[in-house]
Amino acid sequence: MTIKAYEDDNIFAKIIAGDLPCHKIYEDDKTLAFMDIMPQAKGHVLVIPKQKAVELSQLEPEYASAVLMTAKKVMAAQRKVFQREGIIQMQLNGAEAGQTVFHYHVHLIPSNFHELGQHATTQADMAELAEQAKQLKEAIEAA
Ligand code: 5GP
Repeated sequence: MTIKAYEDDNIFAKIIAGDLPCHKIYEDDKTLAFMDIMPQAKGHVLVIPKQKAVELSQLEPEYASAVLMTAKKVMAAQRKVFQREGIIQMQLNGAEAGQTVFHYHVHLIPSNFHELGQHATTQADMAELAEQAKQLKEAIEAA
C-alpha cells in the first residue's frame, strides 16, 4: 500500500506559511487551529500540526501530542461558545477514506453524528466564520 507523498503546496501548508488566509483561533509552535471553510456543522474547527505529514502514520509523537492538547483547548471553547455537549473528533486517512487535503488534520465538529452535514461541500458565510473564530479565540484566551 503506497501512501500519497507529502506535497509542499497543499492548502494547509500554505495556511501555515501565511500564504493563504484562515480564520485562526489558536496557534503555538507545533499546531494551528482554524475554522473549516466548508463546515459540516456550526463551529467546525480544524487542528493541524506544523509537521509535513499526510496522515496519522507519518505524525511524529511530539506533534501527535501537541495536536491533541490543542484539540482539547478547542473542544472546551466550542462547548462554551456553542453550548453543545457533543463534539465529534474526526480524522480521515487516505483518499479512499474521504480525505481531500493531504496535510494531517483533526476535525472538531459540534454536532450529533446523525445530524452531520455533507463533507467539504458548502462554503460558509465568511462574516459568520470570522465571528465564530473571534468567540472561540476569546474563549481559549480566557480559559
Ligand atoms: P478532509 O477531507 O481532508 O478530511 O478535510 C479537509 C477539510 O478542509 C474539509 O472539511 C474542507 O471543508 C476543508 N477545507 C478545504 N479547503 C479549505 C480552505 O481553503 N480553508 C479552510 N479553512 N478549510 C478548507
